[in-house]
Amino acid sequence: MAVSDKWIYEYGEKMDRTEMREKLEKKLTRKRYEHSLGVEYTAGCMAMVHGADIEKALTAGLLHDCAKCISGEEKIEKCIRHNLPINRVERKNPELLHAKLGAYYAKEKYGVQDREILSAIEFHTTGKPDMNLLEKIIFIADYIEPNRKPLHEIEEIRHEAFTDLDKCIVHILKNTLSYLEHSDADTDQTSIDTYNYYVKNND
Ligand code: FE
Ligand code: FE
Repeated sequence: MAVSDKWIYEYGEKMDRTEMREKLEKKLTRKRYEHSLGVEYTAGCMAMVHGADIEKALTAGLLHDCAKCISGEEKIEKCIRHNLPINRVERKNPELLHAKLGAYYAKEKYGVQDREILSAIEFHTTGKPDMNLLEKIIFIADYIEPNRKPLHEIEEIRHEAFTDLDKCIVHILKNTLSYLEHSDADTDQTSIDTYNYYVKNND
């Protein structure tokens, strides 16, 4: 048994989603909390359409940004303390760390034991090649939830979210990467790998 599994087994308390919401609301800004609720119900709807586990989608959607509202410095500190690896791009842009730190918190502070939920949270920002259904849903729901300010081609992307997940992923990453190209932000290699994987698979 992994150390983390043992920890959950001994100390982890299972919470229902209402309790999770109460706790989460205290940890996030109002705007981030509204966004989290948006991802929660969007992911739930996508799960209905695509035949994924609805409960898992709701929980992963709700908690995906649970580590978002702390400073970059603190994100680095906490990752080091909990032995979560930090790569070069993440060190430069610690915001990215909220995904893996979020998975850690979901497990440690919200009692989530399900590996699919934790993994969907971990990869919600960059995606990754060969995602499973739940990972795809959370990655997309984060981008399309209704509280998001209107992004380029969002109507088409929202439609694809309910009709063709892989096409939707390519569309999102294409727009994100071209946006990053025109800003001075560094692009995470995983996003590029994910894009290349799904472009190839979409042919
Ligand atoms: Fe996020
Ligand atoms: Fe988010």
